[in-house]
Amino acid sequence: MSRILRFITVCLLLTVALVTHAKGVRVDSLRYWTAPDHTRMVFDVTTPAAHQVFLLDNPARLVIDFKQAKLLKALPQPPKNHTLFSKVRSGIRNKNDLRVVVDLKAGVTPKSFALQPSKGYGHRLVVDLYNKVKKTKVKKEQKIATASKVVRKTVKNKARDIIIAIDAGHGGEDPGAHGPRGTQEKKVVFAIAKKLAILINKKPGMKAVMVRKGDYYIKLRKRMEIARAAKADLFVSIHADAFKNSKVKGASVFTLSNRGASSEAARWLAKNENAADLVGGVTLTDKDDVLATVLMDLSQTATKEASRNVAGKILKNFKSIGHLHSHSVQKAGFMVLKSPDIPSILVETAFISNPSEERKLKSRKHQLKMAKAIYKGIVKYFNQYAPADTYIALNASKKHTISRGETLSGIAHHYGVTMRLIKSVNKLASNQVRIGQVLEIPRG
Ligand SMILES: [Zn+2]
Repeated sequence: MSRILRFITVCLLLTVALVTHAKGVRVDSLRYWTAPDHTRMVFDVTTPAAHQVFLLDNPARLVIDFKQAKLLKALPQPPKNHTLFSKVRSGIRNKNDLRVVVDLKAGVTPKSFALQPSKGYGHRLVVDLYNKVKKTKVKKEQKIATASKVVRKTVKNKARDIIIAIDAGHGGEDPGAHGPRGTQEKKVVFAIAKKLAILINKKPGMKAVMVRKGDYYIKLRKRMEIARAAKADLFVSIHADAFKNSKVKGASVFTLSNRGASSEAARWLAKNENAADLVGGVTLTDKDDVLATVLMDLSQTATKEASRNVAGKILKNFKSIGHLHSHSVQKAGFMVLKSPDIPSILVETAFISNPSEERKLKSRKHQLKMAKAIYKGIVKYFNQYAPADTYIALNASKKHTISRGETLSGIAHHYGVTMRLIKSVNKLASNQVRIGQVLEIPRG
């Protein structure tokens, strides 16, 4: 064989090898994201993978068959003491196919789909396993919830808490933006959200509900549903911004733009059953379309006003702890802000793409500062606008303006509180009061 012929043969063989290789899929890794109602398995694959997912009994197993696929190294095992899985194994079938078997501890409903490359990840195959056991638990929880509702109704005049839904952006397979040093948005915003929840839960009459409780992804509409199910008085979504220019910095606070609001209102109206629990319990299904639109508008106007008000207060607090990106409340069509009946805001705490702000976002001290800025804005808002049936509204202190002839002891007697308490709340050094002076009267 001449040299040239040999060269051509080698080339041909190489091409054949490349073609067969290109046909196959390489499964490179596997990640697990555990949410309360499901677990997401994410396989990194070199190309979209032809696959099949099914369950086997005795013992319960989940099988994922990849066609024309191979594995270079063993797949990582699920987290220890996982509620669903005990072990993951893999093997080659029919010479060219890859079979992954997961030993299951509980019943699941699997669902799979491909994910396109994005945010530093390549092609992926997602297998979501919905926990069947949890469903009965949910039913039980619902029963308990209705039972406690009945109890709550019978115990009248029991002031309720103001509920704040805190939504840490992104999560799980969606890391959000990332900083030049690789800090992930999902992690820092979760840390800030948790700090905010602790502050809120310490305040009598307020309760925080974390929309995302761990490192997993929740669809945007589902985030709104969680807030509604918790009967939230306010929805706060926490994010960190990014821009290609690393010098850009500062915080911004967003409310929903009019366009985003009107398109969402139309969608809600189209789905009457969804609209039924809106507008303070007024059912829209039995109203004609015009009236329904008016009711929806009223609800939305109030919601928008409240959102703007609380957003403004938070923005002011951010100004005092650092640089603002925009000095007024911004408007955008963010999906999570579209609840027509829950005041909703989105806080971009800082630019993670700015090296110094990335550092701040990672610092626990600064995370607490940001959480406090949000917290103080929320408290200030609800001190002014607490719903009438809440503990905060019922325990709000009164204001008293001193008129001629009034004394501190007389005022204390009138409101049934001690002089000492009035003095300490108002930081008075003596018993002297002057005409026109406004005193805060605490509840005795
Ligand atoms: Zn974000």
